[in-house]
Amino acid sequence: MMESKGETAKILLEDFKVSLVNALRRSVINGVQTLAIEDVTVYKNTSFMYDEVLASRLGLIPIKTPIELKGKGKFSFKLKEMGPKAVHASDLIPSDKDVVPAIPGMLIINLKDGEAIELEAETQWGNGSEHTKFTPAHVFYHFYPKITIPNSKVKGAAKIASLCPVDILDGEKETLSVKKGKLSDCILCKACEDYAGSDVISITSQTDKIVFELESWGQLTPKEILNEAFSTLEDEVKEIAEKV
Ligand code: SF4
Repeated sequence: MMESKGETAKILLEDFKVSLVNALRRSVINGVQTLAIEDVTVYKNTSFMYDEVLASRLGLIPIKTPIELKGKGKFSFKLKEMGPKAVHASDLIPSDKDVVPAIPGMLIINLKDGEAIELEAETQWGNGSEHTKFTPAHVFYHFYPKITIPNSKVKGAAKIASLCPVDILDGEKETLSVKKGKLSDCILCKACEDYAGSDVISITSQTDKIVFELESWGQLTPKEILNEAFSTLEDEVKEIAEKV
């Protein structure tokens, strides 16, 4: 693993087929089981929000998923609030202290004075192929960048550096360079090259190296997500092999 920080992971894959890396990406999106709210019983709702919209918002709250319970059990949340109040995911009262919203500060509804909601929500296991709310992460990959700056002394270097959306270029004192350790962050957008010309800065990619990036929504850790995605991929390949 190249880098792992909190909910994100960045992995450098060398000499991997793009098709295999894409299969892993798809497995992360569609093949990892997580918990999400599925059934909502609304006892009271005098807010401006329809029951269906409220239920849909609850379904999109990422729920921390203990991987050791994979596929087992249903968990529930109770919510009883009265306005004026901004109701957040942290206001959901869980049936299990380990199955809680992954992002406590997520806003559910802004209740006005006198408005009230009372409901019970039940979770279900599922994966991204059933509904995107079960998908555990934002995941993408790109080729490893190659940045060539033939002459480091460049007029307007600061302007060129300021165009970089991921801030990896240094343009101080009319000298253009890539910040130390930041090359793999280049997203190959070519904003710098389009502005300055390829004779000043040239952006290409190394097709034998792939940067695989993953940002968890909080249900599982990046490592758990990758382990589950590999395991699903392996099962699927085995299933095909057995059927052929
Ligand atoms: S290609 Fe885009 S991300 Fe890469 S250095 Fe240039 S401006 Fe920055």
